[in-house]
Amino acid sequence: MKQPPVQPENGLVPAAPAGNSVEPQTGTGADEFRVLLDSSQGFVAVIEGGRFVFANRAALSLLGVEQDASVVGTDFMRYVHPDDFAAIDVGSHVASGNFTVTPIRIVRADGIVLQVELTISEVIFRGRVAHAYLALDRTQELQAISALSAREGRILKILDAMIDGVITVDDDGYIESFNKAAEDIFGFRAGSVIGQSVEPLLRPAPRMILHDTPHASLPPAAGLTAILETLAKGEFGGLVTELKRRDGTNFVAELSMSELKHLDRQIYCVIVRDVTERKRFEQTLERLALEDTLTGLPNRLHLVRMLDDLTRGETPQTGAVILFDLDRFKNINDFFGHSFGDTLLQSVAERFSPVVLPGEFLSRLPGDEFVLVSPGAASAADVDAIVKRFSETLKRPFLIDDFELFMTISAGAILYPDQGSDSETILKRVESAAYFAKDSGRNHCQIYSAKISEGRAERLDLESELRKALRTEAFFLAYQPRVDLRSGTVHGMEALIRWSHPRLGQMSPGSFINVAEETGLIVPIGDLVLEAACQTTNHWIERGLGPLIVSVNLSTRQFRDAGLVGRIEAVLDRTGLPASCLEIEITESGLMFEIDRVLEVLADLKDLGVSIAVDDFGTGYSSLSYLKRFPIDVLKIDQSFVRGLPDEPDDVAISTAIVAMAKSLKLRVVAEGVETQAQLDFVSGLGCEEVQGYLFSQPLSVDEFDAYVLESRVPNAAGGISAPKRRFN
Ligand code: C2E
Ligand code: MG
Ligand code: MG
Repeated sequence: MKQPPVQPENGLVPAAPAGNSVEPQTGTGADEFRVLLDSSQGFVAVIEGGRFVFANRAALSLLGVEQDASVVGTDFMRYVHPDDFAAIDVGSHVASGNFTVTPIRIVRADGIVLQVELTISEVIFRGRVAHAYLALDRTQELQAISALSAREGRILKILDAMIDGVITVDDDGYIESFNKAAEDIFGFRAGSVIGQSVEPLLRPAPRMILHDTPHASLPPAAGLTAILETLAKGEFGGLVTELKRRDGTNFVAELSMSELKHLDRQIYCVIVRDVTERKRFEQTLERLALEDTLTGLPNRLHLVRMLDDLTRGETPQTGAVILFDLDRFKNINDFFGHSFGDTLLQSVAERFSPVVLPGEFLSRLPGDEFVLVSPGAASAADVDAIVKRFSETLKRPFLIDDFELFMTISAGAILYPDQGSDSETILKRVESAAYFAKDSGRNHCQIYSAKISEGRAERLDLESELRKALRTEAFFLAYQPRVDLRSGTVHGMEALIRWSHPRLGQMSPGSFINVAEETGLIVPIGDLVLEAACQTTNHWIERGLGPLIVSVNLSTRQFRDAGLVGRIEAVLDRTGLPASCLEIEITESGLMFEIDRVLEVLADLKDLGVSIAVDDFGTGYSSLSYLKRFPIDVLKIDQSFVRGLPDEPDDVAISTAIVAMAKSLKLRVVAEGVETQAQLDFVSGLGCEEVQGYLFSQPLSVDEFDAYVLESRVPNAAGGISAPKRRFN
């Protein structure tokens, strides 16, 4: 530590460079000289040849001796701590003619060590060259200082051990200390920044990535004053901002500050925490919270936020929200298993993603629903075009685990803000619209209307009402005759379920069978149907109504049920119906699920002697080779192809191909939904063996069917086939 030179307090005049001499006079003058020096509080001694020739009272007291006599003549060095001998190199110091200030340790006569600041100068004493030693006792002061620096040293050690960067800054913003963590964080050595302004270090980097954090952030141009002011306000737990390291890379810093008073000075202690990893982790969590892990698409939460942003603006924009629901996905999941279903959902997401236009937002909701937000779409025509764009991607089959699967979508749509101006309403209504689309036949799009909301509420009640209907035996069967075109007689009938609803009257399966399938209620309901159909048919046969074959529809859900074949066998036993009089109808799409299971059940049923019909044929994309694997007896051409006959070229082509294919597989062909003579003539010309449709009869009650069969036994005059004499409307 450099100290200013000590000014001699005692009147001694330095010999050099001025070259004055101090020549105390003998006698009174010398005594006066002593009195004068003794009155000084400062240590004054004259050393000649290393020995005391004079020491004032203060010097004697400092050295711990009582009398002048015990000092004069003694070696000055005997009072100097041995480690400080080298420091007292009088010759070299004085040669330069300057005062020399040397803090040294003086060992008093009583052994006490003092720290003194010693000033040595050459003087002429009693006519000879000597040295005046002036000393100031700094012991207490130096002890205080060394205690202080030890404390500071300890503080610095503690600071270095901290994981946060700690920078102490003086009132003007200059760095006073920079701990190890600060070195690591910023990449600067303490030595290179101490004494420099802290401002460049705390200057926010231009790119602010954390605008969405709950913490405050500084504007990029914020200067030191702004930083210190913001920090000093302390209103934030930590101010989060992005700073630059020495190597130019950014890191996310959480800054906080405290003000200290140290030796009457204001010091700022800026604490810098590198929270880059934490922020990255938080952002990952945030991202995960908004992402559907299966498909990587935004999830429902993200969709809701997005809709909130869209609809909460001051001038809400118009657009459409469209919900795509995969048809029959639940069946696929049930039959093929969840991992198959997951793969299918991923594949659908892969098909959809490339057709999402810039500005559109595609998300996935739990289950099989995808939701598209399309800002700008404003009309039903816009919605249709969008739905078409997405449906097109499903035209090609999905190949999963060697299965070829064709998927269709039912879509619900809502135009915002007209039909819904907040996320909750929009989502509720778009879901209702999609349900409505599904309920009314699948594979199309329904735009929301108020009527749909009512329908959705009714649907919610349906499940409990179905359960009640099971208990109260509110189901009954209608029988639709199947007419053999060669004999013109009733060959059999299809049992079709009806529900006698306490409020709504008679209900067709179209309004409740989906819910029964989705809830699994179709299993007990299906058992009732089988029992009733077999019992009634056996009753008719016993009454001599003829050899009749009853077809019973089984939904795919029933095929999963392990006890199905056993129960059918038991029903046949119980009712006495010969197995050859029962035919099971399974839809073509039903054949595509859990193929091994279906094959096994069908083989067992065949073993029982039950025949198998494929219902709604033509709608499920089965190939001929695929069909060959199943033990099928009958193909029923779906009524959607019969409807356009004989004029619609596509329907003509399809029905012709189906009949030709069935013939090659030696299957009987039934044309469903025959309503006109022209249709009848056409299918008959193709070689269909049987028809079923309103032309002959609507589904009939037990009594009506009874009467119908009896009547139809009478062949018409021409002996050919014509519309029946009696129609039931
Ligand atoms: P499906 O098996 O294809 O039955 C034929 C449907 O076509 C019946 O509708 C029938 O009334 C109707 N239909 C018959 N001829 C004509 C016609 O000439 N023109 C028109 N437009 N329609 C005709 P329904 O009774 O409403 O049954 C609808 C579907 O519900 C059935 O289609 C079948 O898939 C299902 N279903 C009916 N009963 C049961 C059942 O007991 N169990 C199961 N799992 N499904 C059933
Ligand atoms: Mg059927
Ligand atoms: Mg059918």
